Amino acid sequence: MELEKLQLEGVEDRRPIIIAGPCSAETQEQTLQVARELAAQGVKIFRAGIWKPRTKPGGFEGVGAEGLAWLKQVKKETGMYTATEVATAKHVYEALKYGVDVLWIGARTTANPFAVQEIADALEGVDIPVLIKNPVNPDLELWIGAVERIYNAGLRRIGAIHRGFSSYDKKIYRNQPQWHMPVELKRRIPSIQIIGDPSHIGGKRELILPLSQQAMDLQFDGLIIETHCNPDTAWSDKDQQVTPHALNEIMNKLVLRDMAQSTEDLTDLRNQIDEIDKDILEAFAKRMRISEEMGMFKKEHNVSILQRTRYDEMLEKRIALGESLGMSREFMRVVVEAIHAESIRKQMDIMNK
Ligand code: PEP
Ligand code: MN
Repeated sequence: MELEKLQLEGVEDRRPIIIAGPCSAETQEQTLQVARELAAQGVKIFRAGIWKPRTKPGGFEGVGAEGLAWLKQVKKETGMYTATEVATAKHVYEALKYGVDVLWIGARTTANPFAVQEIADALEGVDIPVLIKNPVNPDLELWIGAVERIYNAGLRRIGAIHRGFSSYDKKIYRNQPQWHMPVELKRRIPSIQIIGDPSHIGGKRELILPLSQQAMDLQFDGLIIETHCNPDTAWSDKDQQVTPHALNEIMNKLVLRDMAQSTEDLTDLRNQIDEIDKDILEAFAKRMRISEEMGMFKKEHNVSILQRTRYDEMLEKRIALGESLGMSREFMRVVVEAIHAESIRKQMDIMNK
């Protein structure tokens, strides 16, 4: 699959490509105010959600088509390109009617091939840049599948947005970055441009700078950052929006390293290893928490900690599983025994409390 760059005049001249604007267009005044401030700082692409996918009904679901006229006004007044999310064929037709310059497909939509196909069909024969967010679940094939659907409709200016992956265990991030996913996407489709979305990964404005830096270190092409003149009063995603002034400061702090090809490859691999090790340790920690719960249950019900047959069975099963995944019996035995020992230690602590 050979893709083209976004090809928006004046945008690709510098890295990173910046897309900024509020999570949602709320009112005409709010939309225009943030747009004017961003334009004054040299931002070239303005984002604003018009239709908002919300987890539960009853929340603010976007202003709808009315807001498209505000985007048109932003374009006319500031000269910025405008970008919005589309989730249905109707959204596509309406956005095109109002001259929106860049469309993006949201994470919940990418996860649904029917919806992506409907959007692709609506875009048949249209030449417009489309950015495809990763699906909410960490499924690379689903992400690539969405790119293919849009490509098959004849579009070539296709980019990807890495916005992190949903997880039950929300600790630091709202959505887990799993950096190896966009890195692997780039390996599979080398011509694709990747935009980092630190607002939706972090969920907190303090995380925007470090996440932007990581995206730059992984050679991403751009960043999409939620920006609002008065973030604390935003109607959606208020914790992760920054003021235009704060955005400017973040940009000034970013360090852009141009890495030589050979070290770049190694950096990518090292970053993947770091990320996977972190996932492994997090999984360990989760397992230990469950062990502790078991310890409490056993204490309450007067059950002994070590159940020999269960342990022997588990050890054998894990070793066989590890072998089937290409690891040696010896390695698997050491790993499973170490995990089990720590889990017993945790349970003993609980018994002795
Ligand atoms: C957004 O960009 O405001 C949005 C809804 O993002 P996502 O699809 O990544 O959740
Ligand atoms: Mn948002």
